[in-house]
Amino acid sequence: MSKHFMFLIKYAEIAIKGKNRHLFEDALCKQIRHAVKNYGITGRVEKQPGRIYLETEDSETYDDDRVCEALQHVFGITAICPVKQIPVMDFEELTAEVVKYVEETYGKDCELSFKVFARRIKRTYPQDSQTMNATLGEKILDAFPGMSVDVHEPQIPLHVEVREKVINIYSLEIPGPGGMPVGSNGKSMLLLSGGIDSPVAGYMIAKRGVKIDAVYFHAPPYTSERAKQKVVDLACQVAKYAGPIPLYVVNFTDIQMYIYEQCPHEELTIIMRRYMMRIAQQIAENSGCLGLITGESIGQVASQTIASLSVTNEVCTMPVFRPLIGFDKQEIIEIANKIGTFETSILPYEDCCTIFVAKHPVTKPSAKVIRASERHLEEKIDEMVKTAIESAEMIWCK
Ligand code: ATP
Ligand code: MG
Repeated sequence: MSKHFMFLIKYAEIAIKGKNRHLFEDALCKQIRHAVKNYGITGRVEKQPGRIYLETEDSETYDDDRVCEALQHVFGITAICPVKQIPVMDFEELTAEVVKYVEETYGKDCELSFKVFARRIKRTYPQDSQTMNATLGEKILDAFPGMSVDVHEPQIPLHVEVREKVINIYSLEIPGPGGMPVGSNGKSMLLLSGGIDSPVAGYMIAKRGVKIDAVYFHAPPYTSERAKQKVVDLACQVAKYAGPIPLYVVNFTDIQMYIYEQCPHEELTIIMRRYMMRIAQQIAENSGCLGLITGESIGQVASQTIASLSVTNEVCTMPVFRPLIGFDKQEIIEIANKIGTFETSILPYEDCCTIFVAKHPVTKPSAKVIRASERHLEEKIDEMVKTAIESAEMIWCK
C-alpha cells in the first residue's frame, strides 16, 4: 500500500484566463473538500499560485488509491500527482533523497527509462535547473544499473521542484476527470427519473461546471416508495461528482389523472411532458437555476422524435440542455457504467411515464392540436400546478 500525504493537483490553465481564475480555483477547492470528506479522508486543501495541494492526515483507513479515487470525482482536475515533499536542503542531501524516492517508488531493480525535469523556483538555490538535471540524471544511472535516459518519451518523468519553502519530488501522474469545477458555471435543474439517461445527463452538465438541482415527478400510488428511493439513490450517485443535490419530489398524480380524463390518450405522454417542463421551470426559477437538463435523445422513444421534442420545448422559456441528444443508448450505458449509476437505473421499479402510456402515442404531434387539447384542462390545471409546486418535498442527496 503506497502512501503519500501530499498530492499536487493539476488543472487546465486554459479555462481560467483572466478574472475567472478565482472563481474557478475557489470552486475547485470547495469540490475537493467535499469529495475528500465523502471518502472519509481528512486533509487540508491549500491554494498556491498556479496549483493546489491536498495534504492528507495519516490514517489506517485510506491509501493513495483511495485519495486518487476521491479526486477523480472532482471535475476540473486534469491530473493528480502523489508528491514526496521535503524541506529545502542542500544539493547533496537532495540527491540522496531523489535516489531514495526512485527506489521506494520503482524498486532497486527498476529497468524503466527516465528523464529529470528539475525546476528552480527559489532563485537563491545555488544549483540551477540545468545543473540539477545533469547531476541527478548521472546519480540515478549510477544507482540503478537497469535504468536509462530517454529525453523524448521517458517512462518515468521525474520532477524535482525546488520551491521557496519545500522541495517536491514526483513522477506519477494519475489522470483526473477533466471538465470544470462544479459551481464555476451557475446552476441548472435536472429532470431526474429513475431511468438510465437522466443521471448521465446530469453528470455531463455538472462536468461543465454547472451546479445541479433536481426534480422528480412521483405518482403515488402508481409509483411506489421504492421507485422514489431509487431516484434518491441515483441523485446521491450523481452527487459524488456534482456535490450535494437538493431533490424536489413533486406529487404528479392528480395532474396525471386529470390529463388522462380530459385529453386524448395518444397525446397523454406529450401533454404530461409539457407539464413536467412547466413545473420544473417554475421550481428552477424559484431556486435560482438558469436552465433545465433532460436525458432526451433524438428518436429514442415516441416522445423524443424531433416533432415531439419541439412541442415539449415550446413551453420552456429557459434553455433546455440535452447533452445526450445525439447519443446511442449503448454510448449512454457506457457512461452510466463508468459513473456507477447503471445498476441502480435498471432496477425494475415502475416509472410514472409508463403507467398511463397509450398503445400508440403520437409521434408527430402538432403544437396546435396539443394546445387545443390542453384547453380541456383550463378549469383546474393552474391550481393543480400551484399545489404540486407548493407541496413538493425537498430531499438533500449527498
Ligand atoms: P430516462 O432514462 O432518463 O428516464 P427515458 O429514455 O426513459 O429517459 P423519457 O421517459 O421520455 O425517456 O423521459 C425523457 C426525460 O424526461 C428524462 O431523461 C428525464 O430527464 C425526464 N423525465 C421523465 N420522467 C421523469 C420523471 N418521472 N421525473 C423527472 N423527470 C422525468
Ligand atoms: Mg424514463
